[in-house]
Amino acid sequence: MNEADSEEMFLHLSARGAVRTDTLEEADAVLINTCTVRDHAEHRAISFLGRLMKWKRQDPRRIIIFAGCAAQRLGNQLKKRYPFLNIVCGAKEIENFANTLDKSGLFAPAGAAATPAPGLLAYATIMRGCNFNCTYCIVPSVRGPVKCLPVQDILQDVTRKAQAGAKEIMLLGQTVNAYEDGATSFADLLNRVSEIPGVERVRFTSPHPIYFTPQFLQAVKDNPKIARHVHLPVQSGSSKVLREMKRGYTRELFLEKVEALQEHGFTISTDIIVGFPTETEEDFQETLSLVEKAHFFAAYCFKYSPRQGTPAAQMQLLPQNVLEKRLDILLNQVRGLSEQAYQRQVGTQQDVLMEEPTKGRTSGNFWVKTSRAFAVGNMVRCEIEKAEGTLLFARNEHD
Ligand code: SAH
Ligand code: SF4
Repeated sequence: MNEADSEEMFLHLSARGAVRTDTLEEADAVLINTCTVRDHAEHRAISFLGRLMKWKRQDPRRIIIFAGCAAQRLGNQLKKRYPFLNIVCGAKEIENFANTLDKSGLFAPAGAAATPAPGLLAYATIMRGCNFNCTYCIVPSVRGPVKCLPVQDILQDVTRKAQAGAKEIMLLGQTVNAYEDGATSFADLLNRVSEIPGVERVRFTSPHPIYFTPQFLQAVKDNPKIARHVHLPVQSGSSKVLREMKRGYTRELFLEKVEALQEHGFTISTDIIVGFPTETEEDFQETLSLVEKAHFFAAYCFKYSPRQGTPAAQMQLLPQNVLEKRLDILLNQVRGLSEQAYQRQVGTQQDVLMEEPTKGRTSGNFWVKTSRAFAVGNMVRCEIEKAEGTLLFARNEHD
C-alpha cells in the first residue's frame, strides 16, 4: 500500500518536473513515505529525518516532504519538533497531494510531464481505509473508514498501466475483497481487470477471511489470469485471542476458508502477531498448530507492538523475552513449512512470468529459475525439476 502511495505521489512530483534519483546528494527534494503499523517502522522514519537535518543545513533550499501514516498520527507535533519540514502530508491527505504541492508554492505548476512506465508489475489501489477495529491496529485511525474507488477509475488506471507495459496487476486495499461499487463485486472487478488487453495476471492484497464466499470462488474458478495465491492474514491460531483482537472469525472458520481456497488451487501465505497481551502459552501453541494445519507457504511474523490509542494498548504487556522466544520458535517452523511447500511443487507444470532473464514467478507465487534465458515479461511454460530452499528449478521450458 505504501509503495503504491509513493508511486502516486511521485507522479504528481513528476508532473511538476521532478525526476527520481537514489542519491541524496543529487536531490533537491526528499519524499519520506512513512508507516506506523508498528513502533519500529515509525522510529526508522523519524531517525532518517534526523539524518536529513544535516542534508538540509548544507542547502536550506532543499525540500523535505514527510508523508503517510506516521505523518497522520503525529500531525501537528511534527512541524513543531522538526520546523525544517516543508510539507507534512498525512495518509488521509494523499488523495489531495497535488493540491498540497501547489499550495506550498515550492513546485512549478503541473505540466504534461511524461508519466514514468510502471514496469512489469503495477499496483492499483482499489480501496482506501478500513472499517474493522482490530484491537491492536492503528490503521483505521490513520487511514479512516473504507472508500472504494469507482470501478471505471480503476479500469482506466489499469488500462493505462497495461498500455505502458505492466503485465501483472496487484489490486490493493486493507480488506481488499470487501470491495464493491454498486452492482460490481470484488470477483466481478477481478474478472474485468483480467480482461484488459495486456494484463496476464491479477493479484490482490490483503483480503479478509470473512469475505471469501462460495460465490467468490465460483466467480473466479475458471479464470486462470487470477493468480492462485492468496495472502490471508490470520494473526493468531487461538479463537480466544482472535475474539480479543476482534478479528471477526474463529480458528475453525479461518481453516474452513483456507481449505476452500486450497481446493480451488490457491496457495496461502499469512501474517501472524506473537505476544498479543492476553496470549498464553496454550494460545501460542494453537498458533503453531494452525500454521501446521493451514500449510502456509510463507508467513510474515511480527512481535506485538502497542499502538497508542488502540484498545489493546491499555492492556498489560507480556515480557519482551517471551515475545522474542515465541517469534523465534514460529519463524523456525515457518521456514520449514516454506521449504516443504516448495518441495510439493516438484514435478508440476507451471506458467512462469519472467521478471528477470532466468527468473520469474508462478501463479501460486513461487520463484522459479529457468535453465535458459527468456525475454522479461514472457509467460513461460515449464516443468519443475527440483526445489532448493525457496527456489524452484525448471526444465523443458517454452514460451
Ligand atoms: N488489513 C490487513 C493488515 C494490515 S496491517 C489485515 O487485516 O489483514 C499489516 C500487518 O501488520 C497485519 O496483518 C498484522 O500482522 C501486523 N500488525 C498490525 N498491527 C500490529 C501491531 N500493533 N503489532 C504487531 N503487528 C501488527
Ligand atoms: Fe487493521 Fe484489522 Fe483493518 Fe487489517 S482489518 S487494517 S488489521 S483494523
